[in-house]
Formats: sequence, structure tokens, C-alpha cells
Amino acid sequence: MTRFPFFDGHNDLLLRLLRGKVTAQGVASGLPDGHIDKPRAQRGGFGGGMFAIFVPSPSDNSLSHDEMRHPPYDIPLPAPVSEEEAVGWTERGFAALDDLESAGAIRLCRTAAEVEAALPAEEMAAVAHIEGAEAIDRDFERLHAWHARGLRSLGPVWSRDTVWGHGVPFRYPSDPDIGPGLTEAGKALVRECSRLKIVVDLSHLNAKGVEDVAAITDAPLVATHSNAWSICPHARNLTDRQLDMIRDSDGMVGINFASAFLRPDGCMDAEFGLDILLRHFDHLVERLGEDRVGFGSDFDGALVPDPITDCAGLPNLTEALQSHGVDDGLLAKITHGNWLRVLRLTWGE
Ligand code: ZN
Repeated sequence: MTRFPFFDGHNDLLLRLLRGKVTAQGVASGLPDGHIDKPRAQRGGFGGGMFAIFVPSPSDNSLSHDEMRHPPYDIPLPAPVSEEEAVGWTERGFAALDDLESAGAIRLCRTAAEVEAALPAEEMAAVAHIEGAEAIDRDFERLHAWHARGLRSLGPVWSRDTVWGHGVPFRYPSDPDIGPGLTEAGKALVRECSRLKIVVDLSHLNAKGVEDVAAITDAPLVATHSNAWSICPHARNLTDRQLDMIRDSDGMVGINFASAFLRPDGCMDAEFGLDILLRHFDHLVERLGEDRVGFGSDFDGALVPDPITDCAGLPNLTEALQSHGVDDGLLAKITHGNWLRVLRLTWGE
């Protein structure tokens, strides 16, 4: 394994398992497609990351990639998902993590010390994340039960309205300051997550939602998979004002590889060079400082630039960063050190 293993803020491998497209054994032995499996992770230095449990909307099988090929676009928020459906799906998500661990593909990590120990290991370090909290009940019983099963990070909403708040739409170009943020129930959820030391992910919140979280929590503010709005003015990206809030909280941002959130033209097209990703990197480092930037690939959930293609292509990113003047010290921080720092702070280690 490389000296610079990546800990990654976001992937959607579990969604492929839950849709029956791949098996845990397949992830362990190697897959013909998709972005992540164990052999490619070892080749590419993908040490692990946040594994998202995401409940898809009933209506959309793919995220309107066609519409996003033709900016400008404004994709309506998908219909809400019922709590009952979300609970079943989320239970299966935790079972899938157990299956991956039994198959020898991952090590489910509950502490930053466990993540650090797993990064150079054959198995991928996996932190359980819930993306969109439809499955959580108002009394937080399931939040506590899933925390006991390893849940360490949660996004109150995906880009879809829930009882907790309003998601940010896939809209380009657009300011993320769209509509109301968290509901009173959503604010209570953030308080409970803070009490349990669960990371609250800002990535799919609108501007008001980000402010609501910032007003409640003392934990570092974290956007696991988002980019710089000043480079790509997509509603999913972070404005300088939001970046300043994240810096002031000593939090961090994971750079998302999704083409539509990287390219200045907002187009969902993977044919472009890593120079565009480096522009986001430069802006984020300038705004946040070297200790508050990492990666959040969105592997298996997004169309990633051709020079990376999948997790085996991460050495191309490392090389591009080195050619860009990033020295070994900074490379260690942005590939994994900054994530470990923020997880330690948040989880109280
Ligand atoms: Zn996402």
C-alpha cells in the first residue's frame, strides 16, 4: 500500500449491493464494472472511507444524467420516501456492511484509531454513514440502535424534502440559498447527533440548512462530498461564505469527483482533465487552509473524470497533485490526515 492511502468522504457502493447489482463476495474478489472493489482499492491506494446508506427515490433510477448533460438545468426535487420503506432499506444497508466485513472486503470502523489502523490494511476501512434521514424516528430510537451498530455520520437530508428539512436541488447555475433549512424536528435531530458525536454532513443541505446546523453544533462543520461554488456555480457546491463558516469551525470539505460539480459549465460529462479538479483544490486550500481539505469521491454514485475513472485511478490524482507542487506533508494531510483529524475531533478521541 502507498504511503498516501486515501480516506474518502463518500461512496455509494452499498447502493449497488442493495440493488442486487453486486455481491459482497464480488466486492472482495473483484468486479467487472463500477468504481470500487477490494483488488482495485489496493492497486489505487483507496484505504477506505464513508460508506453511505442511501434510500433511492421510487421514481428515479438514475439521477437524470441526461438533463445534466445540457446546462442550464433545474431538476425538480424527487418525491418524498416513506419512513417504512426507508427503515427496511437502511436495515439492509447495515446487513450489507456486515456481509462486506464477513467477505473480508472491509473493516467496519467505529473510531478514528480503527480507521487509522485499517488504512494500510488489505481490507477497506468503512465508516457507516446515512445519507438522508427518512429512516430515523422522532424519538431517535433507531438513531441510537444504529449508532450501536456503527453509525458515525449522517446527512439530515438528501436532495429531497424530509420531516427534518429541505434538500438542495440539482440546479445549475444556482445559488444554494434556496428556501427554508431545517425544521424544528431537524434541529432536534442535529442536537441528538451532536450528543452522540455523530458527524452531521452538510453536503445536501441548502444554505439556510447549513446555517441551522452551524448554530446548533460545536462540532467541526463537515461537507463530505462538495466543491467550490466560485469555480462551478452548482447549487450543490459551497459558496465562499459557507467555506468561511467551515474554516471557522475547524471542519473540512471532501472534494467531490462528480463531473457536474467540478466542471465550470456544470455539465455531466467525464471528458476533461484534472486541471479543473486542481482549481477547486487551490480555491478550497486558499479559503479553508491546508488542514481542512480532503476528498469525497462519490464513487459508484457519480460520473467521475476520465483521468480517474475508478478507485484504481487514484494514483493519477496523486501524480497530478505532486506535479502541481503538493509536497509529501500536504499530500499526507489531504489524502487521509485531515479526515483523521476531523473525525478525532468530532468523535471525541
Ligand atoms: Zn450525495
